[in-house]
Amino acid sequence: MLAARDARVTVVGAGPVACLVAIELRKRSFEVSLYERGSDVRLATGGRGHSFNLTLTRRGLTSLDGHIVDMLYRNGVVLPQRVIHHVDGTTSCQPYGTDPDLHHLLSIPRSLLHEMLLDEAEKAGARLNFGFECIGVEPASGSATFVDGGAGIVRTSADLLIGCDGANSIVRHEMFRRGAQMRISQDYVSDGFVEIRIPALAGGGHALLDAARDAERPGAPRHGLHIWPRGEFMLLAQPNVDGSYTAGLWMPMAGGDDGEGGERLGWDRVRTRRDVRALFEEHFPDVVDLASSYAEDVLQWAPAPLKTVRCDPYHHGRTVLVGDSAHTLVPFFGQGINCSFEDVRTFFALFDRTLAETGHDAAAALAATLPAYTEWRRPAGDTIADLSLAMASELKDRSGDVAFQTRKRLEKELHLRHPGLYVPLYHAVAFTDTPYQDAVARHERHRAVLDELCARHDPAGEAELIIAAYAEAIGRAGPGPGSGLGSSPDPDVGSGPGSPAGRRPAGIGHLVPAPRTERHAVPAPRTERSAAAPGTDLYLDPAQQKELLDVVTSRLVDFHEDLSKGNHPAWYRVAAAEPPRAEQRAPRTGTAVATLLDEIFDSALPDGMMHPHPGFMAHVPSGGLFQGAVGEFVARSLNRFAGAWAAAPGFARLEANVIDWFCSLMGYGEGSFGYLTTGGSIANFMALRCALERLPEHQHHRAAVYVSDQGHFSVAKAERLAGIGAGGHRAVPTDGAYRMDLVALRETIERDLRYGTPPACVVATAGTTNTGAVDDLRAVAGLCREYGVWFHVDACFGGFFRLTRRGRALLDGIEEADSIAVDAHKSLFLPHGSSALLVRDKSTLKQAFAIPDAAYIPELSQDDDRPDFMDYGPELTREFRGLTAWLPIKMHGINAFERCLDDKLDLAEDLAGRLAGVDGIDIVSRGEPHLPTVAFRVRPDSTGDAADAAEADRLTERVCELVCSRGNIYVATSELPREGHVIRACIMHHQTDAGVIDQFVEDVRWALRRLGEE
Ligand SMILES: Cc1cc2nc3c(=O)[nH]c(=O)nc-3n(C[C@H](O)[C@H](O)[C@H](O)COP(=O)(O)OP(=O)(O)OC[C@H]3O[C@@H](n4cnc5c(N)ncnc54)[C@H](O)[C@@H]3O)c2cc1C
Repeated sequence: MLAARDARVTVVGAGPVACLVAIELRKRSFEVSLYERGSDVRLATGGRGHSFNLTLTRRGLTSLDGHIVDMLYRNGVVLPQRVIHHVDGTTSCQPYGTDPDLHHLLSIPRSLLHEMLLDEAEKAGARLNFGFECIGVEPASGSATFVDGGAGIVRTSADLLIGCDGANSIVRHEMFRRGAQMRISQDYVSDGFVEIRIPALAGGGHALLDAARDAERPGAPRHGLHIWPRGEFMLLAQPNVDGSYTAGLWMPMAGGDDGEGGERLGWDRVRTRRDVRALFEEHFPDVVDLASSYAEDVLQWAPAPLKTVRCDPYHHGRTVLVGDSAHTLVPFFGQGINCSFEDVRTFFALFDRTLAETGHDAAAALAATLPAYTEWRRPAGDTIADLSLAMASELKDRSGDVAFQTRKRLEKELHLRHPGLYVPLYHAVAFTDTPYQDAVARHERHRAVLDELCARHDPAGEAELIIAAYAEAIGRAGPGPGSGLGSSPDPDVGSGPGSPAGRRPAGIGHLVPAPRTERHAVPAPRTERSAAAPGTDLYLDPAQQKELLDVVTSRLVDFHEDLSKGNHPAWYRVAAAEPPRAEQRAPRTGTAVATLLDEIFDSALPDGMMHPHPGFMAHVPSGGLFQGAVGEFVARSLNRFAGAWAAAPGFARLEANVIDWFCSLMGYGEGSFGYLTTGGSIANFMALRCALERLPEHQHHRAAVYVSDQGHFSVAKAERLAGIGAGGHRAVPTDGAYRMDLVALRETIERDLRYGTPPACVVATAGTTNTGAVDDLRAVAGLCREYGVWFHVDACFGGFFRLTRRGRALLDGIEEADSIAVDAHKSLFLPHGSSALLVRDKSTLKQAFAIPDAAYIPELSQDDDRPDFMDYGPELTREFRGLTAWLPIKMHGINAFERCLDDKLDLAEDLAGRLAGVDGIDIVSRGEPHLPTVAFRVRPDSTGDAADAAEADRLTERVCELVCSRGNIYVATSELPREGHVIRACIMHHQTDAGVIDQFVEDVRWALRRLGEE
């Protein structure tokens, strides 16, 4: 038999709910240790994160000890009503109930509540451990693993493990993973919110108090929850004791068409100070003068997304979830913490009962409590999750609606007259302890009766009639189950989840369980340091590696899921407040991984352009196949050196396979080979090094390189790297389709030869960045042969389109090139850093890069079929590169890539055709076939003289800005010699589809309409 005082409990998290759990556990003499990944908020100085206000209601407050409730009332503000700020500038008040002393919300900053509860938990004897991030749980045994901020890995074992680790609970995740047979669902709402602070008046008063004066109730004005309902979006403000207000602006993450020819606001359209000002001046003019820093507040943080999480069961083995970890609610009903505190109250009421029944065997009592707790609380969690979602539309839309207010007044009157027969749903949820599901069941029945009466009579003019008829109708039918919801709820009445009323746990519904005052000395937590490898702090054992990967994987998967649900814009405004180089010294001690992941995902990621977004069309996009990243990760973690064949023949073979595939895809045959590089710039440099090998060394610095004036700037950089003098760059003019002018090329080569400048290399471009033009490769090949010049193709953009029929026509002649640079991170959709230089004759690479007699590398291969990569490129030690391409190509087969490339060509054709049909838009002419780039601009007004052209340039830039401001698409402008300013869209993301193109066309049309209005 286990006595409670000998039982150990580990609590993951030290948020408000964990603290209350700890207080209740200590009352029952358990040994309690809390492990919190963050630092102690009570010690925090300066800095402001998200710190919203919570509204506590009776349900939550009755779960707390009396002295805590007193402290909360001293530091919070009582809100007996809603104060609605209507569109026309008037305000109206909607009292929550009939008696403001009973029917009110208590508004309190979350940070204040948290700090108080931490103090109380510590006073009660709980051990608080900060900087400990839980990375793994064994739910069956109640053991957990934590990474401690700097010192290492800590394992705990306990008789009970409680997950109070909030919305993104690792404990829940681990239960699911380790056999709990759980149902878990997670749904994001379209809304996100940002916080705004309305400061106190100069004399310390509340700026909005006057607006809260109720015309129907003379006397001193009362505080309220201020709401500016504006349909799709709203502003909420709650007063604080210091005279300030904490406000939140809620709106959909993405705006859109409202279906009636107008537009619906969304965070993706509120990006600049001007946008914020326009929004506030139009919709919240009364706040503009009160909240001097509202624009900064709105722009300071990325809007926080909201989600609902449900799961079933709440327990497994010796582990149980309490609070947001079990049920995360959207905050519109303000019940998240109230419901969570009720969880705690229910849990201990059940435990106390079973402890008595088991003769005070804590182990047996816990084993019986856990399933009963799930049975009681899971329906409550699910019900309040639904109600919270439904409340969003009431607050944003209907609270300002006259019919809605009339109905609310009628319901209140009905409740006042017949408190035993009619209880408004809000009242039952906020001001009673009635189980949420019972409150809803009863409300549904009574609402149906009331709806029917309101349909027959006018609720405004015939309220008396309706009230009388209602009493009669319900009286006939009887109040039904769940009655008694009025002012004196009977704790033992009501139905449980499929259980008869008689099984209801004793004590639920009582205000505060009797405190137990025993205190025990607090022993040290039972922890075990992991056996690190001798002599190193850096070693992770296999279990720790797996745990780390799991945490990272779940964040990554969440991000990709979010991205595909459209929860990220195609670009973010850059957080200007953030200093560019905040950390100049390496940290001396470590930080919990979850904190670091937060920094990566929440802070670094939402900044700037979102390259993996399907609407990203600037530059040449690279969506970055996840499979490719996994291949890369595997290669990095295996960490083999494949620079010499003998060092890792298996991996060198895989890398050589990939190179051979690329060669054959370009039409190269026997004798060809290549080298995988990190990008096209290095590949172009390597090509020039190979080209120079054809010339005597003393000519290298004065050799000439020919590339079209639309060629990539990396060619000029490569010349410099290869030691070619600054005067050796020849920018050859282009023809009407932006392809290299071959007559001009020939003339330039001839002129150089006349003046003794040796032609080293012609670089043809297969896919210019600006327009996607491809030089006439076969003709350039012929010319290079004629003059004996190295022929290199910069096919970084277009190369792999040779997989498709249209691409083969476009790239005809590429197989004659001496070398080709390809970017698999462009036209094979792989992650950045996946490029290659391919050569028709593998010996040319070796001539350029092999350094003979490197004696300290003993096992060099003499067999060209087993190449040492160090002899084929500029590097010795480097990562093993092949898997990034090998894994996805092997997984899907190359045909899947061909189909995807074909699809991009179709989409670009479609986009060009549709934009050509938009009034006022000119498309830069595209040959047939053409790589998937579409360049277009606003058509100059009349004669096309200089002033018209300049104005068209300005308008083109503005259209680009407007399109990007919607967040669906990110494009950039460029300058063309003939057309001037153009917007160019390059469709190269594997997930870009017809829907994205529809959206793009719609956004361009919208931008043009806006232009007309400006
Ligand atoms: C904008 C907003 C407004 C809200 N308004 C209201 C309201 O008015 N009324 C109301 O009742 N509710 C409201 N809520 C909900 C309320 O905030 C939550 O229900 C409540 O904070 C839940 O408390 P918790 O302790 O379960 O979780 P949390 O407060 O999230 O605490 C979880 C703790 O666990 C820690 N943790 C997480 N993972 C780990 C790990 N792996 N290892 C160690 N520690 C970990 C976290 O750092 C955190 O300290 C609101 C929520 C939001 C977002």
